[in-house]
Amino acid sequence: VFNFSAGPAALPEPVLRQAALEMLDWHGAGCGVMEMSHRGKEFTAIIEQAESDFRELLAIPANYRVLFLQGGATQQFAQIPMNLLDGRAADYLVTGTWSKKAFKEAEHLAGGLGGRVRLAGSTEADGFTRLLRANELDLDPQAAYVHLCTNETIHGVELGEAAYLPATSAPLVADMSSHILSRPVDVSRYGLIYAGAQKNIGPSGLVIVIVRDDLIGRANAVTPSVMDYKVMAENGSMLNTPPTYGIYIAGLVFQWLKAQGGLAAIEACNIKKANLLYEFIDASDFYENRVERGSRSRMNIPFLLRDETLNDPFLAGAKAAGLTQLKGHKLVGGMRASIYNAMSLDGVRALVDYMRDFAARHG
Ligand code: PLP
Repeated sequence: VFNFSAGPAALPEPVLRQAALEMLDWHGAGCGVMEMSHRGKEFTAIIEQAESDFRELLAIPANYRVLFLQGGATQQFAQIPMNLLDGRAADYLVTGTWSKKAFKEAEHLAGGLGGRVRLAGSTEADGFTRLLRANELDLDPQAAYVHLCTNETIHGVELGEAAYLPATSAPLVADMSSHILSRPVDVSRYGLIYAGAQKNIGPSGLVIVIVRDDLIGRANAVTPSVMDYKVMAENGSMLNTPPTYGIYIAGLVFQWLKAQGGLAAIEACNIKKANLLYEFIDASDFYENRVERGSRSRMNIPFLLRDETLNDPFLAGAKAAGLTQLKGHKLVGGMRASIYNAMSLDGVRALVDYMRDFAARHG
């Protein structure tokens, strides 16, 4: 079966096989990772290796901390303003559902935190089918930070390396949940990067935060300790019991990625997969993708059948062919193929073959 879920999403099979083998006894410890103390030498080795591999993969500079936190990416929507919003404004760029949710949460908290939140640009009027253009941004040069989502999972809009980043001296804060580790990223261009784990990293609930040293230690006085980046950094993400099993799986995924040749190699594969699907959709008059070309995501590819009455037969046939979880998000409708790192080129080929065959039978 090829699983096209947007998240929680398919993980690399070798990772799952190894986790299954180690479930009852991790490296002779006499128990599995789920059952061992987070303060023991075994788990310490696991989290240290995971952080070191993650840093290596993304070439994270030494002046950034890596935090393994809980509460998913959604908790960061609140934790970011609690830690970074001061008397100034924070600018939010809204290019899809996820950046809109982040904006709404910050707006909800801003008054209580003594700050302000500004909508510095939005593509909502265009149905979130494209990135913002540089001349559409209304940035406050004094902003505490500028928040953006670099891959909108629902709308299939991605800010690629070639695209602009907002020209500002304020720190950029990016939600990279659904494309982290799919391509190299210049971490030094951001003040903070965060990603929920359940697409390219591991189990849901875990969220990884990469934060520059100077942005730590500025939390608003009302911030709970467990949500204060400084407290978490000082305690090596272990103020309390961290999500140990999620961190362990993440570590196995990082090792798998290194064995694939790292992010440049996985990016080359991701480009091939995305091109194959987009080229097929664009050449067809049976299917369509409405996202502007320079804004299209390599990870999440929404597409519509021009005849929507065929949606149910399409999904039923796909399932019978071993192609699962293709139903689009209800906000966009139609279909969505999420093709994260763990999806093979063969999986995308199988999808395109099925789509071609379905179109021939119903076109
Ligand atoms: N941001 C993006 C881009 C997402 O795709 C998601 C959904 O998974 C979230 C945030 C919310 O993540 P979580 O459910 O881990 O809070």
